[in-house]
Amino acid sequence: MKVLVLNCGSSSLKYQLFDMTSEKVLAKGLVERIGIDGSRVKHEKTGIEPLKFDIPIPNHKVGIKVVLDTLLDGDQGVIRGLDELRAVGHRVVHGGEKFARSVIVTPEVLEVIEECVPLAPLHNPANLMGIKAMMEVLPYVPQVAVFDTAFHQTMPDYAYIYGLPFHYYEKQRVRRYGFHGTSHFYVAYRAAEMLEKPIEDLKIVTCHLGNGSSISAVRGGRSIDTSLGFGTVPGVLMGTRCGDIDPTVILYLMEQDGIDPKSMSHIIHKESGLQGISGISSDLRDVEEAAAEGNDRARLALDILCYGIRKHVCAYAGAMGGIDAIVFTAGIGENSTTVRKMVCQGLEFLGAKINLERNNVRGKEAFINEPDSRVSIMVVPTNEELVIARDTRELAIG
Ligand code: ADP
Repeated sequence: MKVLVLNCGSSSLKYQLFDMTSEKVLAKGLVERIGIDGSRVKHEKTGIEPLKFDIPIPNHKVGIKVVLDTLLDGDQGVIRGLDELRAVGHRVVHGGEKFARSVIVTPEVLEVIEECVPLAPLHNPANLMGIKAMMEVLPYVPQVAVFDTAFHQTMPDYAYIYGLPFHYYEKQRVRRYGFHGTSHFYVAYRAAEMLEKPIEDLKIVTCHLGNGSSISAVRGGRSIDTSLGFGTVPGVLMGTRCGDIDPTVILYLMEQDGIDPKSMSHIIHKESGLQGISGISSDLRDVEEAAAEGNDRARLALDILCYGIRKHVCAYAGAMGGIDAIVFTAGIGENSTTVRKMVCQGLEFLGAKINLERNNVRGKEAFINEPDSRVSIMVVPTNEELVIARDTRELAIG
């Protein structure tokens, strides 16, 4: 039983083909520069050398056809006929307040995803394009939408309503939505399995730390708070996004320097964060290297990042009335021994003691706490595609 998982960006498309009996990835790949000169495909059949080729790809529909042809290819392919594809799962960034779980795509679902475009103007249109193209190419195959926002729909109102005049929520749905929900869900449930405890009994802080980052409080398997909000800027420092700042700073700069909304948006999304503070790079590896060589702004960027994460962990322990586990995931969380060490040093009062030897691990599941630590500290590589594939199987195949 095979399920294809698709993640469409405005000019790119990532895919993974799962065999859902074994939950193994049979092939995965990436189509880049869709609609731009120099389109290229990278396809990797599990176990053999990746295949890379250039081919003109004017739109997502052509991109999807190229992916399907490659999946059918004699040498590189993993299926013999398209009828082997039982369902397609799509990552969709924003489901607004309408979707608290994954759904089979229907015309009504497409309408709601469209309605959510103003909330995620860069992502939802690309996700929609991918779904529609797939529906045209494979009209008889069920499509499932899995939303980044869905897991956080369990937050209580006092966690998601901002202190603005209430009509902004009532009329325009301005509220905290949160993102990376599929990742927080996966690592929290996987952590419970690793702890061999029912998720219902656990209070977990999940730290998804990548180019974009968010921290979530997961109590009893439900998200009760998360650091991203209406948009993808708040919370901890990110690669190029500023994280929490006083909103009056934005007004002040716009007024004083005559900055227009578009430029201001560029500053807080693309020029800030690790990049803005260090002046070196948005990539943590470069920042860590420079800090180790004595660059003081790189040191500062690293300190701000880790201090922010530590503050969120403590705040969410308070929000949940306790904490059983801290889980690190995504590029930084899975790989940076430095960030994990800096975040956890100072959390001993919470009952979280990191073991520096065990912390010396990258990209695999591990407990990195001292044996007598009351709070488990864990590394759990995320797997959003597997969640999408599982939801797709459950909804579309049963
Ligand atoms: P995205 O949000 O784009 O999916 P990722 O989850 O891939 O991002 O995370 C990218 C971040 O992970 C980058 O800042 C990168 O520097 C960091 N990272 C990856 N590997 C390492 C490593 N070995 N040590 C430190 N940071 C790392």
